[in-house]
Amino acid sequence: MKFLSLIFVYLGAILLFASLFPTRRLCRQDHPGTFVWRILGILILLFIGGYGLYGSLILKTGELQSIHVIVSLIMFGGGVFVAAVVRQTQSAINHILRMAEQEKYRALHDDLTDLPNRTLLQDRIDQLVLLSERSEHTFTIFLIDLDNFKEINDALGHFYGDYLLQQVSERLSKAVRKCDTLARWGGDKFALLLPDTSVEEAEAVSMKITEIITPPFQVEGNNLAVGVNIGIVTYPEHGQDTGTLLQHADIAMYEAKRNQVNYCLFNPEKNRTTWDRLILMGELRKAIESGHLILHFQPQISVLDGRLSGIEALVRWQHEKKGLIQPDEFISLIEQSGLSKPLTNFVLDKALEHYSLWRESAMKTGISINISVKNLHDFDFPGQVKATLDKWGIEPDRLTLEITESSIMADPGRVALVVESLKKLGVRLAIDDFGTGYSSLQYLRQFPAREIKIDKSFVTDMLSNEDNAVIVKSTIDMAHNIGRQVVAEGVEDHETGVLLKRLGCDYLQGFHISHPLPPDDLFLWYEKQKDKQKNGA
Ligand code: C2E
Ligand code: CA
Ligand code: CA
Repeated sequence: MKFLSLIFVYLGAILLFASLFPTRRLCRQDHPGTFVWRILGILILLFIGGYGLYGSLILKTGELQSIHVIVSLIMFGGGVFVAAVVRQTQSAINHILRMAEQEKYRALHDDLTDLPNRTLLQDRIDQLVLLSERSEHTFTIFLIDLDNFKEINDALGHFYGDYLLQQVSERLSKAVRKCDTLARWGGDKFALLLPDTSVEEAEAVSMKITEIITPPFQVEGNNLAVGVNIGIVTYPEHGQDTGTLLQHADIAMYEAKRNQVNYCLFNPEKNRTTWDRLILMGELRKAIESGHLILHFQPQISVLDGRLSGIEALVRWQHEKKGLIQPDEFISLIEQSGLSKPLTNFVLDKALEHYSLWRESAMKTGISINISVKNLHDFDFPGQVKATLDKWGIEPDRLTLEITESSIMADPGRVALVVESLKKLGVRLAIDDFGTGYSSLQYLRQFPAREIKIDKSFVTDMLSNEDNAVIVKSTIDMAHNIGRQVVAEGVEDHETGVLLKRLGCDYLQGFHISHPLPPDDLFLWYEKQKDKQKNGA
């Protein structure tokens, strides 16, 4: 009996002793309860002392009573209990710490590519700025933008877009050193931080990156070519803090994109104009969202009877400080900043809204809007057109989509599918600015446009410029031969209108008929025009 009691007491003590190790680890780990665990550790030590004393008491006792046996059993149970609680607690705390570690990792890394994210990169730049301030070291930052990515993403969908981004990040990782930080900046942009790197070395790295990205990527059996535009800044020359450096890298990257070169070093002299453009771009984005873009409408008339035959919607920007800005000043900015689709959606919706009102007042011609070639690369576009037509209750053949000849000719194959869907939908297509895009007769014959709009540069001075008069005449003949109708743009005087009528042109548009007008003024123009015709008749 005595032997059994001793075994229980010492086993309990051994268990207590064993739980001292995890307790020690718990005291050292980084969590809020370390103080309590220290006290618990001391208590366990005291317990062990107590167990020892009780063991020696049992040894000295001659005849054991049953109370001694019961106490030894309780002491053994206590040892088991403490050991189990300490172990369990340690594994729970370890689990929580592991989770916190993973959470921290996720907060600083990009889920898709597993690269450091913007926050971690900014933190590393902050550190490097502090370090370089003291050591007078220099470092370089790249902002890398992928060319064509948006189109690929739109055409193949997000799944393959993500896959392509992973492939790009793998290739980029191969082009950099271990001490560099390659980060995902967001969307199709990456950033690279190169410690101890001069401008010359940075240029060599950008060439390497271009080389490594140039071979096509294999996605879904397609060979996809992706270009890069890299903006480069160095510390301290182009900025002395993280914010300024990154802002300037963004401007340099935008310069590279604009000049269609692979990389561009930040140039403080160009900063001002680029900065203005960037501000304008930011405002433009907001203008589309907040309805600061407005539409003016220019009428087209039929050559035969002078009646209204169509209305073209032309966008303007009602700027808070600069007043009314004409499209020539911002359409190219729209294209560059990827806003063509939101712009077309806006124009389509607004133009059809106005048209639905005019129709009720017997102004029953068609309405034309200008679209970007980006819309013809977008497989969702025909669906959006249909939805907007349905929204305003307008038949598809009342809507004409104008697309410039030069933009179709830039890549005729790529627009074919969307053009075909639009044709099936029943909307009309017009080739705008005709004469500036070098299309072949063969292509024109295939392209399902109902009308051809001769560019105003040929029409405006056709009375004084014989070459242009010949071009206009042969365009009209050619268009009629392949069954297309012809609109002459830029008719600025009566005589030009008369000559165009003689040459067989179908419709006229230009300042002589009317300038583009705000919606209410167009309606007044129409009423006046009707009166004139009644009086003339
Ligand atoms: P466009 O599609 O060729 O539009 C005709 C342009 O010629 C308009 O300029 C119009 O005001 C101008 N115009 C009309 N009659 C005459 C004339 O007799 N003489 C002269 N010299 N000009 C005349 P606007 O409104 O400044 O638009 C310029 C260009 O901006 C448009 O050329 C079109 O390419 C683009 N644009 C306008 N609105 C939109 C739009 O909503 N979306 C897109 N993607 N582009 C648009
Ligand atoms: Ca047009
Ligand atoms: Ca035009």
